[in-house]
Amino acid sequence: MEVMYIVIPCYNEEEMLPITAKALITKMDELIVAKRISPKSRVMLVDDGSKDRTWEIIEQLHESCELFTGVKLSRNKGHQNALLAGLMTAKDYADIIVSMDADLQDDINAIDGFLDKRAEGCEIVYGVRSSRETDTGFKRWTAQTYYKTLAALGVEITYNHADYRMMSRRAVEALSEFKEVNLFLRGIVPMVGFKSDIVTYERAARQAGESKYPLKKMISFAVEGITSLSIKPIRFITGLGFFIFFVSIIMLIYFLVVHFSGHTVAGWTTTVVSVWALGGLQLLAIGVIGEYIGKIYLETKARPKFIIEKNLEEDK
Ligand code: UDP
Ligand code: MG
Repeated sequence: MEVMYIVIPCYNEEEMLPITAKALITKMDELIVAKRISPKSRVMLVDDGSKDRTWEIIEQLHESCELFTGVKLSRNKGHQNALLAGLMTAKDYADIIVSMDADLQDDINAIDGFLDKRAEGCEIVYGVRSSRETDTGFKRWTAQTYYKTLAALGVEITYNHADYRMMSRRAVEALSEFKEVNLFLRGIVPMVGFKSDIVTYERAARQAGESKYPLKKMISFAVEGITSLSIKPIRFITGLGFFIFFVSIIMLIYFLVVHFSGHTVAGWTTTVVSVWALGGLQLLAIGVIGEYIGKIYLETKARPKFIIEKNLEEDK
């Protein structure tokens, strides 16, 4: 029987944690009794520098029930880094690691499906949402457009898969070899390879507390995903540059012809329009390139992605 760790990043989840904990106790007990996972299996709650009582709750859970363990990050580092911190800590104790959110939006019963696939020899199993009915129309639309954009940019990504997945220790070890600071897990995990499969599940609405991903964070996460996985936007700009250069040559010829055939061009409109159009385009182009240079800048610094302040697993 394999030791399974469920890694859950938690940021200001005091309202949700007790509910999640209860559901997980039932689920884990069920799996342990059915001898599908080892009794040494745990739920690892990663406190991502929460400002509320999240860490106290994690410590309480750990004291009252051996099923729970916790890791406290030194400060808020965001969902992806918190998840990574959990994976990297859990891989020292677990054979298989499931990652999920604290809000129970991901159906915990899909874990049975994960274990089935694992028994078939999969190293990575992706949880894929079968529908997006519980999302608002806006979120559904933005998410779909986003997946399509990523696919068009040549990024290999599993449609409608977020961060609910199971990875074997071997897969997580391989993931740890990816040293990049700009981390977009759902784009990088497929690069790990190995035998993998998907399990579909119904995604529920958040039961308590509110989404920790406001629009602003969502947008920056989306940009992060694109720029850390694809350089096609830069190629596009180069292409656009060539195209505009080509157009300007045709315009030059046209103006010369007009000039020498004696017609005078009023010209004001053309000038103003092209100044604005080209100016705007140049700023945009510089912006996109700047985005990548910013990435390179951060990568060269190679700062730690997370710092662990406390690991409850260690003080046993
Ligand atoms: N989260 C985190 N750090 C952050 C923001 C979020 O660890 O800075 C966690 C959060 O506690 C939750 C998960 O990431 O477990 C997903 O967040 P949320 O459910 O708010 O996102 P949504 O489902 O709305 O995309
Ligand atoms: Mg959520």
